[in-house]
Amino acid sequence: MASHLVVGGGVNGLSVARGLAEQGADVLLVDKGRLGGGASGIAGGIVRNYYRADAITELVRLSVDIFEEDPEAYGFRQVGYLAAVPEAQVEDLVAIRAQHERVGYESELVVGADASREYLMWSWPDWEAPVEALLHERRGGWADAMQTVRHLASQARAAGVEIREGVEVVGFEGPQRAITSEGPLECETLVLAPGPWVAQVGELLGLDLEMRYLKAQEGEFALAGAGLSGRAGSEAPVVHLDQTQPLRSDQDGRVLVDGAWGIYFRMGRTGTGITGGGLPVMFESLELDPYGPENPEHAAEPAFEEFFVSGLAAAMRRFRRRAGDWRVTAAGGIVAHTPDNYPICDWVLDNAYAIVDSGHGFKTLAIGRLAAEEIASGTADPRLQPFRAHRFARGELHVASKGPYPWT
Ligand SMILES: Cc1cc2nc3c(=O)[nH]c(=O)nc-3n(C[C@H](O)[C@H](O)[C@H](O)COP(=O)(O)OP(=O)(O)OC[C@H]3O[C@@H](n4cnc5c(N)ncnc54)[C@H](O)[C@@H]3O)c2cc1C
Repeated sequence: MASHLVVGGGVNGLSVARGLAEQGADVLLVDKGRLGGGASGIAGGIVRNYYRADAITELVRLSVDIFEEDPEAYGFRQVGYLAAVPEAQVEDLVAIRAQHERVGYESELVVGADASREYLMWSWPDWEAPVEALLHERRGGWADAMQTVRHLASQARAAGVEIREGVEVVGFEGPQRAITSEGPLECETLVLAPGPWVAQVGELLGLDLEMRYLKAQEGEFALAGAGLSGRAGSEAPVVHLDQTQPLRSDQDGRVLVDGAWGIYFRMGRTGTGITGGGLPVMFESLELDPYGPENPEHAAEPAFEEFFVSGLAAAMRRFRRRAGDWRVTAAGGIVAHTPDNYPICDWVLDNAYAIVDSGHGFKTLAIGRLAAEEIASGTADPRLQPFRAHRFARGELHVASKGPYPWT
């Protein structure tokens, strides 16, 4: 019998399992599919400290510290992260910069249309989109998602975690006895980290977790003769562009979005092309299996392609009137969100702890480590205090930004 049974082999499950084993626990991790077969394996892996909620700023800094321990092993490309926003979000940026300062996370804030334009044009002389402020985090970037999963798995195994893939938890007889596709498994402490499946797995334990579902719309875009490189071929940071004026089609000029819109983009994994995404689609419920972009319900909507390349054309002149020339591989996937879009880390029953992801897994990589310490020591970590489940009943929800995304 393992002392700790971890359900879920994504970034959260692997991190907490590794942390527990390093504290001397005897840990078994099970995953119904393969490691990284959930959200972790298909994520864009963007790492940014761009949240209006104060409490998460330090968690992201700690997560960046983890990536910086061995960037190559994690597949972490520390190219920076640059958020460029319109007037309505200037206040958010100023507040986020102050949050960075409080936790010792370096970033540069530029306010004012002319200064922002000058800053952007220094990197991309053909920058076009008008913005009122920008925040440049040089410690941000993106992680190759499967490389991070593989590294976490090898660290977990090295610490002594036993990993069994293809073992699905299908029921519980209390938190200390899980019924699986391979028979019952007993443990002293159960740790749930089943990503988007958390409401289903929670229900098996009698928990009622209120989650909604969001389809992250993303894709790989390639255009002959035009990429993201800036002056002197330097590697571009991840760019997050929000706008309030209508988005017009780069194909025929019609209005695609008559209000706030946003895109985010970075260089592709192999250094060519562009990987990026835009506004998600929300669902109250949907089928999670089969999971991933091969499921047509999970892949980006057909209209996403025109939206995204038109957004790029609005950002930089080099992409203007090229709408028909892109080679596109649509991607995307489903993330489950809590009511305030921030994670839950908490004891959900005696002997059962849950990490309820809310779509920020790479940015909050430190959660697994902190949760492991909390579980092993029995002492609450103040840094996880703002992420307890009771915040919903108490109405102590995290602050949302004025951006068009539900996750900042
Ligand atoms: C398209 C997309 C883009 C994203 N981009 C980013 C990004 O740029 N940056 C970022 O920080 N985050 C991003 N995210 C979110 C990020 O992927 C998640 O926050 C993170 O991967 C969640 O990790 P997890 O370990 O909680 O869940 P998962 O990686 O989903 O792992 C959960 C595991 O639990 C297993 N499981 C479920 N039910 C059972 C069961 N009954 N029995 C056994 N095993 C079970 C599943 O098979 C799965 O492998 C993105 C997500 C998507 C879908």
